[in-house]
Amino acid sequence: MTEYAITEYPDVKGVYEKANSLLRTQPVSISSDQKKRVLKYYSERCGKSKEIIEKAKQVIPGGVQHNLAFNFPFPLVISKGEGAHLYDIDGNRYIDFLQAGGATMLGSNYEPVREKVLDLIGQTGPSTGLFHEYELKLAAEIVKHVESVDMFRMLGSGTESVMAAIRVARLATGNKKVIKQGAGYHGWSDQLVYGLHIPGTRRYEAHGIPSNVSKHTQEVYPNSIDSLRKKLRLNRIRGGTAAVILEPLGPESGTRPVDREYPREVAELCEDYGTLLIFDEVVTGFRIGLKGAQGYFGVRPDLTTFGKIVAGGYPGAGGLGGRKELMEYLAAGVESGKKRAYVGGTLAATPLSSAAGYFTIKELEKTEACVKAGKFGDRLTKGLTEILEDNSLPFVVFNQGSIVHLETVATMFTDLKINFNILKTIKDVKNRKHKMEEMGAAYTAQGIITLAGSRMYTSLATDEKVIDEALGRFSEVFKEMEVRS
Ligand code: PLP
Repeated sequence: MTEYAITEYPDVKGVYEKANSLLRTQPVSISSDQKKRVLKYYSERCGKSKEIIEKAKQVIPGGVQHNLAFNFPFPLVISKGEGAHLYDIDGNRYIDFLQAGGATMLGSNYEPVREKVLDLIGQTGPSTGLFHEYELKLAAEIVKHVESVDMFRMLGSGTESVMAAIRVARLATGNKKVIKQGAGYHGWSDQLVYGLHIPGTRRYEAHGIPSNVSKHTQEVYPNSIDSLRKKLRLNRIRGGTAAVILEPLGPESGTRPVDREYPREVAELCEDYGTLLIFDEVVTGFRIGLKGAQGYFGVRPDLTTFGKIVAGGYPGAGGLGGRKELMEYLAAGVESGKKRAYVGGTLAATPLSSAAGYFTIKELEKTEACVKAGKFGDRLTKGLTEILEDNSLPFVVFNQGSIVHLETVATMFTDLKINFNILKTIKDVKNRKHKMEEMGAAYTAQGIITLAGSRMYTSLATDEKVIDEALGRFSEVFKEMEVRS
């Protein structure tokens, strides 16, 4: 029986070749005429959103609370979510490929989970500050599915889970250095706002973060075993490495995909160098399969971070899992005889988040959602590939199951090894990013919500019918493209 969302691993070499050639050419974007129509859509059909966002700008920095909501030309105000669709406050309907940033694997506002959550709220309210049986049920469910996880501690977010993983790794190894993949995002903790988006940029985005906080964070070139080996070797001379952290599919949910063998090779290197391996499965956990991407790759990391789907799209989505002797560092009492890695959070592991996570995982198992959503991702990718070919467009489209990447400007593939001038490169990236935002707005005006105009998550709800409708809408956007300065 197929257990995983990925039916065919992407042709990684081919993806990089296409993306690199896209980067060398002037960006192609929507035509001036199409842009005018897109802006007209927003001004004529999204008036209430505009008004609310204008007011929000007075009391909320930038007008929205969430980075993913920050869309060109202005954010939409969403008033209803249902399965594969979102509705804005003006009553427009959208196909939802954002899926709450990847958190809602069963589709928006999935009824069977919602009913259980509402029942529970009727009993205990969302939180009590004390233990609830669903905390046990969720932990047991995760331990049952994810082989490397003997114990699970729920936390408030993916960011917190990564912070906890690193704390445990440092305590367990007595080492400080943490190696991440350049371009990878592991939340916004002080120590990991480092080498974001573009490999080699180190502290470029670490405004407001003292440099000594980043002292023990290092980045390696993504998908390069040599780069990692060199860093581990150097660290060994200087005392050792606490952990290597990576997203198993590659930085930014696999936008920069890694070779099929890479996660296993990283695990072997970690073993050789006595370094702990942390898999950040905040996105991939319960999306690539119930056993996580680690099951797919056949790798047993020491620690695994969870987020998003672990609470089924409900608040309080985070958690750390791993080997018993490591997880014991989180125990508050004296039982383990170990020093404690201090973690906390008033609303970490509420009855609400635990029940939502537990029933979500149960439903994922029952409905085989990961595999089905993966097939919908395949269908979307195949359809988009055909549309791009029909219109002779140079864009890159590929997927890892239910994670679909549609690169029209390829900024995520920017490489400082090739473009040494960081300031010039950043200027070019900004220009390209704006073109991508325009693409995102064009998709929205056609009734499709994506993640920042370049990534799409399918779910159990985004079925064949929805995908085929989306493809028709994408065709409308792609038939009118041009190079604009
Ligand atoms: N790790 C990865 C791979 C992520 O994609 C994210 C968020 O998108 C995080 C960690 C941080 O999770 P959160 O936003 O819940 O803090």
